[in-house]
Amino acid sequence: MTTARRPTTARILAGAPIAAEIKVGVKADVAAFRRRYGFAPTLAVVLVGRDAPSAVYLQQILRTCRGVGISGRLVEVPGRASAAQVRNTIVALNEDPLVAGIIVQMPLPKRIPLSTVTETLDPAKDIDGIHPLNAGHLTLGHDGFLPTTAQAAIEILKRSGVELAGKRVVVVGRSNVVGKPVALLLLREHATVTVCHSRTPDLAAQTRTADIVVVAAGRPGLITGSMIKRGAVVVDVGINVVGDKLVGDVDAASVSPVAAALTPVPGGVGPVTNALLMTHLVRAAELQARAETPRPATRRARSTTVGSTPGAAPGAGSSAARLSASPAGRGIPA
Ligand code: NAD
Repeated sequence: MTTARRPTTARILAGAPIAAEIKVGVKADVAAFRRRYGFAPTLAVVLVGRDAPSAVYLQQILRTCRGVGISGRLVEVPGRASAAQVRNTIVALNEDPLVAGIIVQMPLPKRIPLSTVTETLDPAKDIDGIHPLNAGHLTLGHDGFLPTTAQAAIEILKRSGVELAGKRVVVVGRSNVVGKPVALLLLREHATVTVCHSRTPDLAAQTRTADIVVVAAGRPGLITGSMIKRGAVVVDVGINVVGDKLVGDVDAASVSPVAAALTPVPGGVGPVTNALLMTHLVRAAELQARAETPRPATRRARSTTVGSTPGAAPGAGSSAARLSASPAGRGIPA
């Protein structure tokens, strides 16, 4: 007698509890920072133009800042501003000693090249890892500021107990902010990684072989149940507005009966991304404050110089240190 295989439902890997756990650590770190240095670190969020979804997203970040005691500053630049004006805004924030971290909301108006931002930001304040120096640190497996969304995708998997070492992972998307950094971080975790993109001829043939699929394509419903191996874990990074709804890149209805676990949209990668951003801000603030604070001569003689790059790890007890993926100087294993 044969028994029909009953469809199961994928475990939902919710981001909210993970984000809450991270924020508890950040709140304590911010309080310790305030006690030590006498002020709250500031995150500056720059919005160029009046893109409504971007404004909503930045308000969420500012709310997260308030929740953990970080001072959030919204810097609005008119949409008609020139590249030089955007550059000057960033330079002013680079030079502002109260501002520990800067994020510039993407997409920028088409007239303004991305390099205006990536090459102007002080890498020590580049808490979302877009400066070429931080991208280089990521590639080499050194400590730097990681692109937060990519880190969030990995953090959800690790904190949910999903084994990565030796697993076959297919990443869908090769952008500098998500796909590429996700692939590099997975290599650090000893996964075997394939990166697919818009020119991959048979995407389903790739995804069907994967133990884990991470999707960051910005295409609603791109990944369906027939493209997923039974028991695979699926991380949906996509955020798309369809009608009045936010949806991911995964067709949850068809994937859920096949996959072992799936991140929801909304409520998956997004909240973890915001929480991690706060850890980066505290880390940047600590590194900058230490570089400014004179130390006793005996300690200074032994201490490593903290320059304008975020190469040094923060205090071992901080939430930022606990999240740091690999110690400085250790490369990606071959
Ligand atoms: P992007 O447009 O820069 O890159 C999309 C990538 O997907 C490209 O590499 C492209 O080659 C690939 N792609 C597009 N169509 C494809 C297809 N049919 N088959 C295979 N690959 C395809 O986008 P991005 O900035 O990397 O963002 C990707 C998604 O992640 C978007 O939905 C974005 O809104 C979302 N996002 C989420 C967060 C978060 O916090 N959760 C943060 C940033 C971006």
